[in-house]
Amino acid sequence: MPEGDTIYRTARAMGRALVGKPITAFRSNYPLLTRFHDDTPITGQTVEKVESRGKWLLIHFSGGATLATHMLMNGSWHLYPRGERWRRPARDMRILLENPDYQAVAFTVPVARIYSAQALAREKRIPPPGSDVLNEKFDAASAAARIRACAGEETGNVLLHQYVLAGVGNVFKSELCFVERINPFCLVAALTDEQIAGLIRTAQNLVAANVLEDSRNTIVTYRGPGRRTTHNARPADNLWVYGRVGEPCRRCGTAIRHRLQGPDARVTFWCPACQAMPDGKDIDGY
Ligand SMILES: [Zn+2]
Repeated sequence: MPEGDTIYRTARAMGRALVGKPITAFRSNYPLLTRFHDDTPITGQTVEKVESRGKWLLIHFSGGATLATHMLMNGSWHLYPRGERWRRPARDMRILLENPDYQAVAFTVPVARIYSAQALAREKRIPPPGSDVLNEKFDAASAAARIRACAGEETGNVLLHQYVLAGVGNVFKSELCFVERINPFCLVAALTDEQIAGLIRTAQNLVAANVLEDSRNTIVTYRGPGRRTTHNARPADNLWVYGRVGEPCRRCGTAIRHRLQGPDARVTFWCPACQAMPDGKDIDGY
């Protein structure tokens, strides 16, 4: 499952290749998309904007419609200069957008729909721009209110709700709890306003730092001494806690723990010393 920063990079690259240029060809093997195209041709329209909202990628057309795709586990958008050979077989193509310079191809994207502006605003599954930590319309105060509204849930689960804070995936979840010294199993009700504000600020900073132009396509939250820069370095070498079960905490040396969390059983990593529960005990109560 790609994290929000991966979708953001894709949206940025697609935006550069597509925005302001007329679409010269559109193909899809999704009947709903081709039916829309038959009634309201996408060919001849211009792409006005490409944006990410959490794990959704949105392409806005000049006619007012928006194509929304969700990658789930295996889907991906590829961008090819015209004439370049595709790196996946044509049978995996689900959507093709062409302009004079590029082909944008969605391969095995399992969810794709076209929305009017009104229908997009009503669609509950797609996070609004104000909830995505990378969106220019992100609003920290309303994000804090949405977190507070989940008082009875564990912090780690709440950080994964796309409607609360879009763009934070499972890796960032553990990392930002560590940076803020908050136990991911702590109930939201036990957090102070300062802790919630800190989580939001750190989510913005960590995710934004990972989409800088020169950043590599792996998540980096730890830039301490000895960090390897080779391509085959373990991803966990660049992280505070994620993927580091049993290894010493980078702050205090205590062994990092992990446990499945929440209704979707997503793995969570934390340092039991740096991230004690509010009562000072470990999550097992001792
Ligand atoms: Zn520690």
